[in-house]
Amino acid sequence: MPQHPYVLPREILERYNTSGPRYTSYPTAPEWSDAFGREDALRAIAENQESRKDTPLSLYVHLPFCHKLCYYCGCNMLVTKQQDLVERYLDAVIREIDLTAKLIRHRPVVQIHWGGGTPTYLNSEQLSRLYGAIAERFTIDPEAEVSIEVHPPVTTFEQLETLAKLGFNRLSMGIQDFDPEVQQAVNRIQPFEQTQALIEKARELGFVSINTDLMYGLPFQNATRFGETLEKIHRLRPDRIALFNYAHVPWLKPHQNLIKEETLPTPEEKIALFELAIDSLLAHGYRYIGMDHFALEENELSKAQADRTLRRNFMGYTTRADSDLYSFGVSSISDLDAVYYQNPRKLMDYLTAMETDELPASRGMRLSADDRLRRDVINRLIGHCYLDKAELETLHGIEFDAYFGAELEKLQPLAEDGLLTIETDALKVTPRGQLLLRNICMAFDAYLGEQVPGTRKFSRTL
Ligand code: SF4
Repeated sequence: MPQHPYVLPREILERYNTSGPRYTSYPTAPEWSDAFGREDALRAIAENQESRKDTPLSLYVHLPFCHKLCYYCGCNMLVTKQQDLVERYLDAVIREIDLTAKLIRHRPVVQIHWGGGTPTYLNSEQLSRLYGAIAERFTIDPEAEVSIEVHPPVTTFEQLETLAKLGFNRLSMGIQDFDPEVQQAVNRIQPFEQTQALIEKARELGFVSINTDLMYGLPFQNATRFGETLEKIHRLRPDRIALFNYAHVPWLKPHQNLIKEETLPTPEEKIALFELAIDSLLAHGYRYIGMDHFALEENELSKAQADRTLRRNFMGYTTRADSDLYSFGVSSISDLDAVYYQNPRKLMDYLTAMETDELPASRGMRLSADDRLRRDVINRLIGHCYLDKAELETLHGIEFDAYFGAELEKLQPLAEDGLLTIETDALKVTPRGQLLLRNICMAFDAYLGEQVPGTRKFSRTL
């Protein structure tokens, strides 16, 4: 029996294994309106520039191209060999960066992230051109967290050297599982030695943080195979690890039909894989940050969680100060505090919209005071596992227990199961509750009640 404080009786894990949002935003994206368009985005940027002119910026760029399809993929991506399409896309993204930069003045950029797709689909010249477009138009803080997702099978040392010279200082890479049969079944061949060589080179070049993604619930995974993958992970010793639950949602991602359902682990086997991973990571010096994330005890994320400065946004957990997120490229989401908006989710729609040289926002949402309050609650629970009622009352002008009477009642059974403590002045998520943070946050989600029973908008929580 493992000795760490995250142990949860199997019966509780199974009971709470329902579908639920990951809360990268609140309200979650399915609630946003298609009636929100470029005029609304322009107004949101002007208001944001006016009301939060001293707030730093985070910038995200979505690079959707991939050489090959991984069958489990849940990202917005396009497998292509058409270089002219890639060039057309790069031009469009640079135009979008230019249009946006003209509307935002004198705000330092403290975080940049390029995600995909496969950002290292771009060659060194293209990577430099895109980074140059950002650096020419924005003031990048010398201490900025500048990260990129790399796909080891298609990333060269030369690209890594280019990225290091440009100023990238953090790498993130998918691994999922090193077992050859699992890799074969998901069409992603990524030998351990190749990944190891890339990580060693990145460290030599001065990248300060390496994140790796693992995934449980993939075809043919079992305790022996996943155990071997975890042993290899410990040899690589990444600074941060995201342990994702494979969400098999072929009704949303039809290519996932390429995975034969009968090869997937059962729900009980998935929970066992999850428990195996958590035991192994904790035993090797990782701290459980919450949701899917782990970080080495000495890593900045662990420190930020301990001193309650950790934040979460669309790019994951961050230690950077409160910032507004401007995003570029197909399907990318901007978070301007009072407004979320998203670019077109289909590549051709994005490219067509950019031909008019206007911002391409195609849906979004303006948050009400209640939305912002609930988002604050959810962010504090996810980031700090702690919520000070008096702080919320001062910031939002409410009386916590009166405002959230129904929510506190919903939380009572979770408290009885030991997932959190409801105290006079605070809510405290227990270590075992960290495994089920999504379920705790769902009590504060005012939109879940409107979900039609039987419709599956979200993946399972475990
Ligand atoms: S490399 Fe990443 S984005 Fe591309 S198909 Fe594989 S999982 Fe999806």
